[in-house]
Amino acid sequence: MDQRAQFTPEEEQAIRSAHGEGRAAECPRDGAVMTVREIGGGSFGLGYARRREWLLCPRCHRSVIFDRRRGTRT
Ligand SMILES: [Zn+2]
Repeated sequence: MDQRAQFTPEEEQAIRSAHGEGRAAECPRDGAVMTVREIGGGSFGLGYARRREWLLCPRCHRSVIFDRRRGTRT
């Protein structure tokens, strides 16, 4: 992974909440709608069995990775 700027934990939580409820997540920094990309198993050659989603802000390029194993609350 590269070392782009990251969201704070609070911002990340807001994105997780919105996305977890099936709403379009907006970037807390600039209000842009986050782009969702599915990361399929095997894409990285690591044999991931679980599905992951990558939410990326098209404006500031911050991103959050979600594991979709179960609920987003821990
Ligand atoms: Zn942004």
